Amino acid sequence: MEPILLSAINQYFFCPRRCGLIHVDGVFVNNAYTLEGSFLHDKVDTPGVENRAGVRIVRALPLYSREMGLNGKADIVEFYKQPDGTEVPLPVDYKRGPRRKWANDDAQLCAQALCLEEMIGVPVPKGAIFHAASKKRREVLFDAVLRGATLETINKIRAMLETGKVPPPLPGPRCEGCSLKNICMPEIVSAPGKVVNYNINVFNRN
Ligand code: SF4
Repeated sequence: MEPILLSAINQYFFCPRRCGLIHVDGVFVNNAYTLEGSFLHDKVDTPGVENRAGVRIVRALPLYSREMGLNGKADIVEFYKQPDGTEVPLPVDYKRGPRRKWANDDAQLCAQALCLEEMIGVPVPKGAIFHAASKKRREVLFDAVLRGATLETINKIRAMLETGKVPPPLPGPRCEGCSLKNICMPEIVSAPGKVVNYNINVFNRN
């Protein structure tokens, strides 16, 4: 089974076509937003372990799920010591921008929790997103709704990879911030008549 990167879950949630362009067609272009995200992750990409009162903090922890065919990395996993000696993991993902709920970020974090549950064999009830611009954390509960949406997205990505078909564009406000807009051409591709006119006008064919 071809592994699905955890970041693909975020991309598919944001826009299935963006995920397809990256993971089926293998194209990627940076813009200011993606570069800002990369610089932020560079800061937390150095593996390491730190112990504070009652919590072990592990940075850049590799994650996988054999069951679901996932792999990737957690920016940080905090392991909270319990009175019975066990530890409860809490994944923390770093994101650019101010504190704000984004379903795509929550689904990626939930997929990290699914990996941790399979790897360690303990329940992971919640995680957190650290929003760099506001330096604030937002707690994310891994409830049945979020787990269901995350699993559904993983299945859709698997089906997309198996067919090798890039989904059609869904033009909308999010396209303005998308680094692949010039490759995707959402307005043209989603209006087949415009493609026909373009072919007639530019290439003298239809
Ligand atoms: S430009 Fe819009 S439709 Fe195209 S990949 Fe980006 S978000 Fe999706």
